[in-house]
Amino acid sequence: MRRRRDKKMGRNQQDAPKLSREVVIPEVITVAELANRMAERSVTVIKMLMQQGQMATINDVVDADTAELIAQELGHTVRRVSDADVEEGLYDIPADDKAEDLTDRAPVVTIMGHVDHGKTSLLDAIREANVVSGEAGGITQHIGAYQVEKDGAKITFLDTPGHEAFTAMRARGAQATDIAVLVVAADDGVMPQTIESIKHAKAAGVPIIVAINKMDKPEANPTRVRTELLQHEVFVESMGGEVLDVEVSAKTHNGLDKLLETIQLQAEVLELKVARDGRAEGLVIEAKLDKGRGAVATVLVQRGTLKIGDILVAGTEFARVRALINDKGEQVKEAGPSVPVEVLGFNGVPSAGDRFSVVENDARAREVTEYRQRAIREKTAGGGATSLEQMMNQLKVAGISKFPLVIKGDVQGSVEAIVSSLNKLSTDEVSAQILMAGVGGITESDVTLAAASNAIVIGFNVRANKQASDLATRDGIEIRYYNIIYDLVDDVKNAMSGLLKPERRETFIGYATIKEVFQITKVGKVAGCQVTEGIVERGAGVRLLRDNVVIHEGKLKTLKRFKDEVKEVQVGQECGMAFENYEDIRAGDQIECFRVETVQRTL
Ligand code: GDP
Repeated sequence: MRRRRDKKMGRNQQDAPKLSREVVIPEVITVAELANRMAERSVTVIKMLMQQGQMATINDVVDADTAELIAQELGHTVRRVSDADVEEGLYDIPADDKAEDLTDRAPVVTIMGHVDHGKTSLLDAIREANVVSGEAGGITQHIGAYQVEKDGAKITFLDTPGHEAFTAMRARGAQATDIAVLVVAADDGVMPQTIESIKHAKAAGVPIIVAINKMDKPEANPTRVRTELLQHEVFVESMGGEVLDVEVSAKTHNGLDKLLETIQLQAEVLELKVARDGRAEGLVIEAKLDKGRGAVATVLVQRGTLKIGDILVAGTEFARVRALINDKGEQVKEAGPSVPVEVLGFNGVPSAGDRFSVVENDARAREVTEYRQRAIREKTAGGGATSLEQMMNQLKVAGISKFPLVIKGDVQGSVEAIVSSLNKLSTDEVSAQILMAGVGGITESDVTLAAASNAIVIGFNVRANKQASDLATRDGIEIRYYNIIYDLVDDVKNAMSGLLKPERRETFIGYATIKEVFQITKVGKVAGCQVTEGIVERGAGVRLLRDNVVIHEGKLKTLKRFKDEVKEVQVGQECGMAFENYEDIRAGDQIECFRVETVQRTL
């Protein structure tokens, strides 16, 4: 493309715009965006491309070389940036993190555990117990996280219970949690989601504190809980391990103080230090569109200090921070490390789990978010999974015979049953590729996973949360819901069958013996035959057998009885046959006649 620089691109020097701009050109850019950045009309760009023999519409992308050529031709200067440059310097700028600048920060805690073991109750109890009376009348506001103070030190709790938020964040390469509190009901013991929580925490390398809850119940059996945990490699102190455990009751508030102390003890070991000064960065914990207030997001500051007036970028959205509201519903001017705040002033709703960082100005914010939006568009345009049918077609065209699935179910038992039924469907030719099978509702991380592998998400007796279904809609991921395993397996089976190559099924229909061979002008060699078995049909497949050896396979050109072309000839009757493109036929040869069908196979 550069070689053509000397060629006229359809615009004379004297037409060059008076205003010359510095145009930032990424690796690829749409025609519309290029025009926009040059403050030129899109048609101008389209015309110039046409003169180069490239037909483009405003939504088509051009490469950086072409874009540069056009921009220069129009009298602008060009600054080329690679995609990675756009993201550069957004996070982790340790340059100014000198040891003396580091301050302690509060630990961030997630409460995990099996459903009904008391996660929500515990979060509420801790919060209630620690709201200083008189403080804003004790009114609190749920923003997705809160801070409590114990003996002058703070602890931040993420109050979206369960490992879903935890996993969603990790799936996006971010980790919000320093400590996981594993709630196990003393009257119920270790359950499937307890085990899952342990796996998640371990995978993330986050230390666990066990809270044995419901100790007020007469049937509470904490020893049983501790013993059961051993099987999952959680060794509590009293069992000779190092995991701290606390007996609590969310109902009576017994043991809550001890739990907070234990968290602080664990936090000390972790030595959580971070720079308080400097541009803030962190994570979006929750985000929603609020009537009246617009797009709001709760963020957890992880380093630096977030202030009113800052411009922050989170995922594909940005905000000029208009107001910051803390977990007590109060307006604050700034939020330091480990502090959760609600941010007002977003231009759109970011996603939970998005990292955020403060940038120097509006232009930078736009550059980053536009780049990210474009990256998403390109990704989805370039073959994001869609419906089951479309996905199958894509797989078929690509010659792929793996059928990727993300499966979420209500209980471990049904998930296992589904997985084993689906695995049974697999053959050498096609197989179900189960990327993930787990218990619980469908979360963003499930959808992200599916998107990454062009998979379908299957929900068995579970539903997608709002964020997950929004994400699925945005990325064109199909989520299918089932409540009968048989239906689920049947659908997948049909879909997978579609990936099988159709079978060529042959049915024998008859034999004929060649009695005589005639040479007929214009037609060529014709065999005078007698049908000895079954029937012979016009259009059917034929094989020529000589001494029981197949010497030709092909099609019949003609099938005649006396002078007439006929559709079929019955056993015992005589007929004339000629082959398509084949003439080496002799008296005594046998003709085998068969029908061929292509049949869509099923598993
Ligand atoms: P989650 O599903 O883990 O969030 O559990 P919840 O917090 O919703 O609690 C489930 C049930 O257990 C509710 O009916 C609570 O009232 C009850 N519960 C929670 N903690 C305790 C406790 O310490 N003692 C007793 N007796 N009941 C509790």
